Amino acid sequence: MPTVPSTPAEIIAQLPSSFAKAKDSGDVLFFPSTVHKHSEFGVEWEITLCPALQNKPPLPIPHFDAAADAKLANGGKKFDPFAPPYVPNLHIGELKDEQEGDEYVILFNKFSVVPQHILLVTKEFHSQTSPLLPPDLVQTYRLIAAAREAGKKFFAFYNCGDNSGASQPHKHLQLIPTIEDGPPIEKLARKTPIETLDRPFSLQSLPYANHVRRLPTHLPTVSLEEQEPILSRAFLSLLDLALSTYRRDPASDDQKHNITLSYNVILTLEHMHIIPRKAETHTLAETGENLSINAMGFAGCLLVKSEREFEAVVKESVGTILENVGCKSIHEQQCEGACSM
Ligand code: AMP
Repeated sequence: MPTVPSTPAEIIAQLPSSFAKAKDSGDVLFFPSTVHKHSEFGVEWEITLCPALQNKPPLPIPHFDAAADAKLANGGKKFDPFAPPYVPNLHIGELKDEQEGDEYVILFNKFSVVPQHILLVTKEFHSQTSPLLPPDLVQTYRLIAAAREAGKKFFAFYNCGDNSGASQPHKHLQLIPTIEDGPPIEKLARKTPIETLDRPFSLQSLPYANHVRRLPTHLPTVSLEEQEPILSRAFLSLLDLALSTYRRDPASDDQKHNITLSYNVILTLEHMHIIPRKAETHTLAETGENLSINAMGFAGCLLVKSEREFEAVVKESVGTILENVGCKSIHEQQCEGACSM
């Protein structure tokens, strides 16, 4: 069996040729789309219109319950697309965290709207409801840094929990190329002044709670040993805030009893964002259809499947949609403790 690339640089270098091969062989299904810009809150949102997705084959029904997870972990029969044997044309690399020993496979997203969209999947089964661990963060950051080194711009995201927009229960982060320097939301983060790197801040012009940490500029070039505590501390501080935001969201009693936090993580070379979630879908007033939102939506990239849906989103406004599936910001109160600005 041929060896697969096993360093971030090797994985990034062979993405164009491997993607062409996977697409030509039919192992990656590519859905052409058009991107439309839409301005709100000082962000140039990208709304991707992809009518071809209406023909996407239905995916297995998602489940996030512990019993089903345990069944998968114990070799149960429920289909897991991220478990071996891997489809050779989708399996484009493997990474091992030298410090912790955790192993990952890198797969192409089989259903591709953006070319070269990849997934970093834990080799062993872990649940998509579990928080990111230091090796998850380090290996993801190394891939983004290797891409930048090769002149390519990628960002990463993680959809965690029932309300996050995730569809697969096996732990996976996703990396996606961008034409501009980061996703649309990144521009707002970049131009937000902060007093110190040590504290979380918030993009306060947005109508939903979001928690952000700026990462040190030298982070892409330092050793793994140095990257790990910086990324881990940033993640834990944001997760803490996301949990306190979620708990204080003025939602129904049912909601409050559901103590499992769902959230989206967006990771760039410069920032880590966490957005707590109270709902997975927004029902469009115009069409009555449910629009599922994941981390891509909060990164500034929404996906619609028809002109009708596109018009409904613009009419209703991106802000209203994200506000309905996110939480109410309590940044001011949180700032009395430990925030920047
Ligand atoms: P999420 O929906 O956030 O859980 O992300 C899972 C991603 O995996 C989706 O974008 C799917 O398109 C993709 N996916 C589903 N099945 C497969 C598969 N068999 N191989 C590779 N990617 C897949």
